[in-house]
Amino acid sequence: MLNESITAVKGIGEETAASLAEMNILTVRDLLEHFPFRYEDYRLKDLEEIKHEERVTVEGKVHSEPSLVYYGRKRSRLTLRVLAGRYLIQAVVFNQPYLKNKITLNDTVTITGKWDQHRQIITVSQLHVGEANRAHDFEPVYAVKGKLTVKGIRRFINLAFSQYGDQIEETLPVEYLQAYRLMNRKDAMKILHFPTGPNDLKQARRRFVYEEFFYFQLKMQALRKIERENSRGIGIHYVLQELMNFIDSLPFSLTDAQKRVVNEILADMKSPYRMNRLLQGDVGSGKTAVAAIALFAARTAGYQGALMVPTEILAEQHAQSMESMLASFNIRTELLTSSVKGKRRREILQQLHEGEIDILIGTHALIQEEVEFNHLGLVITDEQHRFGVNQRRVLRQKGESPDVLFMTATPIPRTLAITVFGEMDVSIIDEMPAGRKAIETYWAKPDMLDRVLGFMEKELVAGQQVYVICPLIEESDKLDVQNAIDVHSILSHHFAGRYHVGLMHGRLHAEEKETVMSDFSQNSIQVLVSTTVVEVGVNVPNATMMVIYDAERFGLAQLHQLRGRVGRGDKQSYCILLADPKSEVGKERMKIMTETNDGFLLSEKDLELRGPGDFFGRKQSGLPEFKVADMVHDYRALETARNDAAQLIQSEKFWKEDEYLLLRNYLQSAGVLEGEKLD
Ligand code: ADP
Ligand code: MG
Repeated sequence: MLNESITAVKGIGEETAASLAEMNILTVRDLLEHFPFRYEDYRLKDLEEIKHEERVTVEGKVHSEPSLVYYGRKRSRLTLRVLAGRYLIQAVVFNQPYLKNKITLNDTVTITGKWDQHRQIITVSQLHVGEANRAHDFEPVYAVKGKLTVKGIRRFINLAFSQYGDQIEETLPVEYLQAYRLMNRKDAMKILHFPTGPNDLKQARRRFVYEEFFYFQLKMQALRKIERENSRGIGIHYVLQELMNFIDSLPFSLTDAQKRVVNEILADMKSPYRMNRLLQGDVGSGKTAVAAIALFAARTAGYQGALMVPTEILAEQHAQSMESMLASFNIRTELLTSSVKGKRRREILQQLHEGEIDILIGTHALIQEEVEFNHLGLVITDEQHRFGVNQRRVLRQKGESPDVLFMTATPIPRTLAITVFGEMDVSIIDEMPAGRKAIETYWAKPDMLDRVLGFMEKELVAGQQVYVICPLIEESDKLDVQNAIDVHSILSHHFAGRYHVGLMHGRLHAEEKETVMSDFSQNSIQVLVSTTVVEVGVNVPNATMMVIYDAERFGLAQLHQLRGRVGRGDKQSYCILLADPKSEVGKERMKIMTETNDGFLLSEKDLELRGPGDFFGRKQSGLPEFKVADMVHDYRALETARNDAAQLIQSEKFWKEDEYLLLRNYLQSAGVLEGEKLD
């Protein structure tokens, strides 16, 4: 049985088992599924193809007797000349004096090491007398911990394989194995651990990539089906005519994309299933209007709504814009954040409970236990990737199974959307309201600050306002970055007597923040120096310029998000990235920012350059961990697996036939079939 403890493997004792346990390797199966994270490539190469300082393995004939020199107390250097192809090179081996007596003139040797092209020397890391062993072209490298070594792990896996190899069973339905010509599990596993050649390795990997994605998607798709069909959702029977009146009252007509997503959302709300939908749309694409329409619709059916955002500033802004849209329809909106305290808070909570408040807007304070609605029908969260997976769950559990809509302005690359949010339906606003001017973005080196200040002055003279963004609040010894407080004092001095410069950062009290923000939106502050707290949602259309200090410190998606604070009116807007990136990737990132305003494109790039963990922030990401597969590079397989899993879950045969028993058991053990939600 593969589920036996690894101590059942002959040759693995208690001590080894304890070490392996530290890496969560407890059973034989765990050990067999501890795959290498890379391979050492010992294929023979022609030195002609090898660049300076690259690692290489060559075969050659010994051309000179090795000479040995001792130096220091225990150090030695062995030098020999080797004829490898057309190259007569020098091989240098450190601290292996015993090799001298093993090597004789005209022997064939296989050496691996770093190639110094200029001096034609290989500094040897491995020398083997004799021809290259083709069976060892690829050597697996494993993650290790504590006392364990890569060699040790190889040995343990070898032991496990010879004893248990025959028990490795197929885990994928035969239809997919055939359709994609996938290798069977046992063979593929063997090849991953004991590679026989590049092509085999590729095929073995392909099989496990599909397997990992398929199992993951099966879970997500099952969850989605169960959430949809078995949830005690509510059908929200909104009053169409009233809703039309509201939409007509908006100061603009909806874009086609807005209309489409509104219809998708309304269909979910009307259905007896519980909505679990993600709404994606670039900054400024008009998600707030869509949210207002959905909340209005719920209200016409007699339900309360909640709008949840990650920061107080944003909550206040949303509260204002909702109020301005909804008040004339006699809909009562209220703001609840952690700074609403005492009597006022008690009043709001009571009125909410009694159903006098129609729409509650606030921060995560909304999901605290004490907040009780009367008949909550719809919950909307904005900028939701900032909420953790668990907060998403708590939210869904509030009230009488309300419909839930998650909005995000960070365009999430398709690959991530279908993994992290694989259990959700997705709506996309892929169109900007007409007449929006693209923000012109420039990259400037810090020594061009004078010109940037001149540029700022021009905008200010024209009556516009400017954001200046800094990565940190205060000076830090560790990071050589401009900080908001310093920059604020420099700019205050520079613009003294002409323009007001405000300061905004996360350590201000809520009231202070509110004052600064409202001063800025009323144009009594013209220049706002701020940390990234203004990142989300803040809307001051008269601000037409943003200067971002140390822009290389931010991710592309975040820069784009920040940049979205300007370009919200009808004037041309500008974004200046002050940055002096040292690396090529850093330069590349700045360049991309100046070249495109397409948030989806940027987020794909960001994902590519930084990897999925960094994209969301590792801790709260809820990203699944795959052993073999890579979400970015294998995304085609991910999409295929998703479609296959979705179809299979919807089919009748899946729930009946024996062939799928293994998969059903898997869903059961993953807690999906009990209707439990996943972490
Ligand atoms: P998002 O929340 O997606 O970043 P907002 O909903 O804040 O975008 O919309 C940005 C601005 O565009 C707001 O001033 C809003 O009034 C306006 N707007 C929204 N939809 C339209 C539309 N269809 N036509 C014109 N302007 C729109
Ligand atoms: Mg918004």
